[in-house]
Amino acid sequence: MSALRSLPPRAMAAAFDYLVLGGGSGGLASARRAAELGARVAVVERQRLGGTCVNVGCVPKKVMWNTAVHFEFIHDHADYGFKTSDVKFDWRVIKEKRDAYVSRLNGIYQNNLNKAHIETIHGHAAFTTDLEPTIEVNGKKYTAPHILIATGGRPSVPQESEIPGASLGITSDGFFELEELPRRSVIVGAGYIAVEIAGILSTLGSKTSLLIRHDKVKSIAKSSLGLLEVTVTSSMPGHKPTVSTISEVDCLLWAIGREPNTDGLNLEKLGLKFDAKGHIVVDEFQNTSRRGIYAVGDVCGKALLTPVAIAAGRKLAHRLFEGKQDSKLDYSNIPTVVFSHPPIGTVGLTEEEAVSTYGREKVKIYTTSFTPMYHAVTQRKTKCVMKLVCAGQEEKVVGLHMQGLGCDEMLQGFAVAVKMGATKASFDETVAIHPTSAEELVTLR
Ligand SMILES: Cc1cc2nc3c(=O)[nH]c(=O)nc-3n(C[C@H](O)[C@H](O)[C@H](O)COP(=O)(O)OP(=O)(O)OC[C@H]3O[C@@H](n4cnc5c(N)ncnc54)[C@H](O)[C@@H]3O)c2cc1C
Repeated sequence: MSALRSLPPRAMAAAFDYLVLGGGSGGLASARRAAELGARVAVVERQRLGGTCVNVGCVPKKVMWNTAVHFEFIHDHADYGFKTSDVKFDWRVIKEKRDAYVSRLNGIYQNNLNKAHIETIHGHAAFTTDLEPTIEVNGKKYTAPHILIATGGRPSVPQESEIPGASLGITSDGFFELEELPRRSVIVGAGYIAVEIAGILSTLGSKTSLLIRHDKVKSIAKSSLGLLEVTVTSSMPGHKPTVSTISEVDCLLWAIGREPNTDGLNLEKLGLKFDAKGHIVVDEFQNTSRRGIYAVGDVCGKALLTPVAIAAGRKLAHRLFEGKQDSKLDYSNIPTVVFSHPPIGTVGLTEEEAVSTYGREKVKIYTTSFTPMYHAVTQRKTKCVMKLVCAGQEEKVVGLHMQGLGCDEMLQGFAVAVKMGATKASFDETVAIHPTSAEELVTLR
């Protein structure tokens, strides 16, 4: 039965059990789980379904990383006996295929909502001034006893007043619109998005500079040829700052952080609490400071990762619509990968965090560094480095960090062990798989 037809006659707004603002990772996961549990659900989305992850994040990024990995291994083909002269790369081919894949996913997400009888409302959602929390989209009002804000975030760009010419740069969103491989790229930022995009561009053959904390962009100007001149102040510790210009740049990309999508939602009227960066403050159950209003995912500013948004959204649905009062996401030991070349995998505490939690004398570190066997016959070499952070007399593994070929796929299973509270002895008792890089983690001494 349509939600509208079940409305009491005097009600002004269409009523649901659950209104979800944002059809991205967290919103869709929560909406679908709530519908499975019998709730009447509507999702409001102003752009394409799937949110950041599907459209301008994890998914297209991973396609580009895979593309770059192909190119990386071409350097080793001759050593493995393949003749691969005259290899040419066409950015447009992979962009077209990637875009088609993302479009297919958009369709799949819509089908999933339809199959779950979730109403999709297309447009920008904003809270109204009604006494009971109500949403307005395209002039129509909607309400529900439970409203989830899962509106995600967007890339930050410096103001023109801070850095003249800042608007000449693009962001990770713009990276996915590039029609050609840039010849000269400058990526500003030191987070994983900056590292990953710089890695992809550089591996595919764009001359790439990554400007991190000690390199400050002063100004950007456009030359008569339409290329950018990026003026940078570099201040290495112990040295005088120097000013230099990177010329003929055809791609300047800001990857300096992300801001929560809270603008235009009229949240001020709801009395919600925000942190200093504008993220919505929630408790461990994803409750905001207003009863009946919840938030999950990037808009909360904690562990900005798709599986985190999904898990928090699903846990919330179980609490609201299945009566599981203690259903909440445990934010400890969240594994994460940086898709660099080679990739980084990390879970749990860093050595510094473990020392400050347990004290230096209670922390034991095991490390190794080796050249993966893949390189046994190649001239090109990469290293694999691994670190186990153990705490207490029983040497509980509280942190596991690694970088090297295959570490991206290696981490998930080890993360289960860390989450279960495995000790160094449990690792040692596990028989190794030979010959792999992963076996080094169970044979550390
Ligand atoms: C380049 C890049 C690479 C990434 N790579 C990874 C990765 O490899 N692994 C990983 O786990 N995470 C990755 N992430 C992070 C991941 O994409 C986010 O953590 C995740 O998408 C957050 O989900 P969310 O539901 O909070 O928000 P989103 O997925 O951003 O969804 C929010 C949705 O809300 C909509 N919206 C906003 N305001 C309104 C409004 N007022 N009305 C209606 N709709 C609205 C938006 O259009 C959007 O669709 C990456 C992010 C980026 C930018």
